[in-house]
Amino acid sequence: MKIQKKKIHPYVRAAIQLICFLFFSSAFTAAFGGIKYIASQLGAGEKIQWTAFVAALAGLCAFTIIFGRFFCGFACAFGSLGDAVHWLYLWICKKIKKKPIRLRADLCEKFSAVKYLILLLIVVLSFFGVYTKLRGASPWDVFSMLHTGNFQVIEYIPGLLLLLSIIGGMCVQERFFCRFLCPLGAVFSMLPVLPLFTLRRNREDCIKGCAGCTRKCPSDIGLPEDGSWETAGDCFQCQKCIRTCPKENIRCGWKVLRGDEIIFTLVRIGLLIGLCLWMGL
Ligand code: SF4
Ligand code: SF4
Repeated sequence: MKIQKKKIHPYVRAAIQLICFLFFSSAFTAAFGGIKYIASQLGAGEKIQWTAFVAALAGLCAFTIIFGRFFCGFACAFGSLGDAVHWLYLWICKKIKKKPIRLRADLCEKFSAVKYLILLLIVVLSFFGVYTKLRGASPWDVFSMLHTGNFQVIEYIPGLLLLLSIIGGMCVQERFFCRFLCPLGAVFSMLPVLPLFTLRRNREDCIKGCAGCTRKCPSDIGLPEDGSWETAGDCFQCQKCIRTCPKENIRCGWKVLRGDEIIFTLVRIGLLIGLCLWMGL
């Protein structure tokens, strides 16, 4: 029964990711737009209005403070694209019997800080009103255009090249964009998260020397100890570690939950979709 559940979870997640990719892909761009809008209004000395962009940013931040980065793990179009590209790359490598290339863990750790620099750069460029003049260089704009079936990307060649480079990175490193480059992920990772639904592990009960959960984790996270207030900002709530642990040592702060229960996942995605609909996304 447990083995069956382990097998069902990835399909449930993939189905949710596909639905969100098809119907709620604008959530990422709207929230990202909120960051740019706030910075540009501040730079222009103008009042910040409650626009759809600001609502999307505030809504997703509030959701993340309560549930951790569940949006990243299950609902973000860019995150899901990364998962699909990486899965496809691994599948091809397996078919042609080639060892997949993977970035070294120490390099990944160093590159993780790059997303904060990108966030800072976007905030500064928006503040000084320069970002809008860089039309054509944004991989996010190109992604949004392609997603809506608009292939007129001739004026967006730099953005297209950047998007293709990112897709190349997604092949060799799981959650490449999320971990190293995403400005929205940088915001989410700095947010405080209520301890109720974040993941922790009971290290005392671990098999000696085991680091299975960290090895399986796309962010190479060693989860905080049970009872600690520490939160792992780079945790995408993908739930892979929960299913990896042979001793079921990984749980939510609310002990009755492991965190990967299908019903709990459906409740969270229901709330998130409700929030997106309410925000008009
Ligand atoms: S880190 Fe960014 S791209 Fe990745 S899932 Fe989160 S919001 Fe989406
Ligand atoms: S494997 Fe676990 S710790 Fe790592 S990102 Fe996924 S849920 Fe978070």
